Amino acid sequence: MILILKQDAKVESINKLADQLQGMGFIVQEIKGEHTHMLGLAGDTSHIDRDQFSRIDIVDSIMKVSEPYKLVGRKFHPEDTVIDVHGQKIGGGNFVVMAGPCSVESEEQILSIARDVKASGANFIRGGAFKPRTSPYAFQGLGLDGLELLKMARQKTGLPIITELMNNDYLEEFERDVDIIQIGARNMQNFSLLREVGHLKKPVLLKRGMANTIEELLMAAEYLMAGGARDVMLCERGIRTFETATRNTLDLSAVPVLHQKTHLPVIVDPSHGTGYWHLVEPMALAAVAAGADGLIIEVHNAPQCALCDGPQSLTPEVFHRLMKKIGKIREVIA
Ligand code: PEP
Ligand code: MN
Repeated sequence: MILILKQDAKVESINKLADQLQGMGFIVQEIKGEHTHMLGLAGDTSHIDRDQFSRIDIVDSIMKVSEPYKLVGRKFHPEDTVIDVHGQKIGGGNFVVMAGPCSVESEEQILSIARDVKASGANFIRGGAFKPRTSPYAFQGLGLDGLELLKMARQKTGLPIITELMNNDYLEEFERDVDIIQIGARNMQNFSLLREVGHLKKPVLLKRGMANTIEELLMAAEYLMAGGARDVMLCERGIRTFETATRNTLDLSAVPVLHQKTHLPVIVDPSHGTGYWHLVEPMALAAVAAGADGLIIEVHNAPQCALCDGPQSLTPEVFHRLMKKIGKIREVIA
């Protein structure tokens, strides 16, 4: 629900009303346009007495928000959210590339890849320390040792790190050590994890579940924001369809659809979206042309030996070539 305030409403009266509404258990979001001033209410508004609310002296009218997501929706926050991670801006026209291996495997591996992707212009180093593998016998990641290696890569290159948190066990370590917390496709609807991560108030990249709709993705982001997070990015990483020529079907139409529905930045993952390294370049370029705010790309120094997702990993050389082409597409669409 949105309370549209009278033009002459005084700041003190607005603040007082916002405090009262917060006291009633609502999350209150101030929405200020050039000629409009509104208060958005998120929470259970079903038993609000609309007549009583419309009688509040500074309230001009009341608008019901039909979408089930509020904090995530553009109605509550018309401007694009711009996330600032140690000076790296994401969203609102600021484009970023997150690159690195699927999994952190060794010191030599992560340092070499981190240096290479930095030299090619990547803004973040990605790498899984905790891996959600389909088989219990597959490499599960180096765990906390992997996190230490990522920290070392950050220290040597200056690139902030993004890595996946799989459960509530390591919230403290991730809060302290990680720059962007990745919630993987398989955990998109792990609501207790989303709430806990929301409480950390850290930047989060939320990946779309492989069988989830765009609305379900937005509702999952709403859990993060209702928990307290503000710096949330959404990630299209492909969905499961009847098609078997690719690992997933990369739904690039999600980019403009999400931009219409939400103020949050949209990142595209053409690696998991296709499953094959030779498809990563064309789909990455298409994602840029579709208006994505960033890309997350798997890069490995020896893809044929990778412990996870080698077939979809770019070599540093191919990544370098791709980064140059990304720059050209960005110039064309600017
Ligand atoms: C990953 O980024 O390595 C990953 C496991 O991605 P997703 O959750 O999209 O499968
Ligand atoms: Mn992977």
